[in-house]
Amino acid sequence: RVEFRAVQKSYDGTNLVVRDLNLAVREGEFLTMLGPSGSGKTTTLMMLAGFERPTLGQILLDGKPVEALPPERRNIGMVFQNYALFPHMTVDENIAFPLRYRGIRGEAARERVRKARAMVHLDAMADRRPGQLSGGQQQRVALARALVFEPALVLMDEPLGALDKQLREHMQREIKQIQTELGITMVYVTHDQSEALNMSDRIAVFHDGVIQQLADPVTLYTRPANAFVAGFIGENN
Ligand code: ATP
Repeated sequence: RVEFRAVQKSYDGTNLVVRDLNLAVREGEFLTMLGPSGSGKTTTLMMLAGFERPTLGQILLDGKPVEALPPERRNIGMVFQNYALFPHMTVDENIAFPLRYRGIRGEAARERVRKARAMVHLDAMADRRPGQLSGGQQQRVALARALVFEPALVLMDEPLGALDKQLREHMQREIKQIQTELGITMVYVTHDQSEALNMSDRIAVFHDGVIQQLADPVTLYTRPANAFVAGFIGENN
């Protein structure tokens, strides 16, 4: 369970890029942070991951402040837009990487890697290096690496941003299916309205560091809370 309590963030001590954020993420839900560039989505995700600290307020993971736990105890999987794969390692070595820090070795580790690799349909690619893969395949490796230690919570920041439209829609379905099957709690960042509407249980619409509305896709679409939400959700649809 994830909870933001009155969270604020300023990088320069003057401008707040996140203002008074209150949000409880439900267990097993797919929650999307949607909003234009600069609205504070990535900052919010980085604070949840423990990479940035709130200027004020608290973020709780199962009732404990995020910073109270060392990174490998947080049990959070992460996928970024640029994949951040290790170019000198094979697909399997990349996927196995997070297991090193969690004391999972030998046959147990190999079994986890096989399972994660199968989940993202990369069985034929085990020994290739990232440079020998397409963008979509690289993104799958990043996904498998985020899932291999069976995290309860997965964070994704624009993971499909670099893919073409057709592949993006295909990957949306795949990610959604894996999330549902594994019962993962997902916090997903995108600026793409249709992606958010397709995948989410609930969507938090960000603008100027504030959540303008938090609702399920149908409510958001049919009953936008204000002109900003109506305009933003309406775009490109
Ligand atoms: P994008 O989709 O473009 O990443 P976003 O909604 O995720 O947008 P953030 O990346 O959280 O927004 O940025 C919010 C504001 O904070 C922006 O004005 C940005 O310039 C600023 N900002 C983000 N990271 C830093 C940083 N490390 N240092 C200083 N300012 C930052």
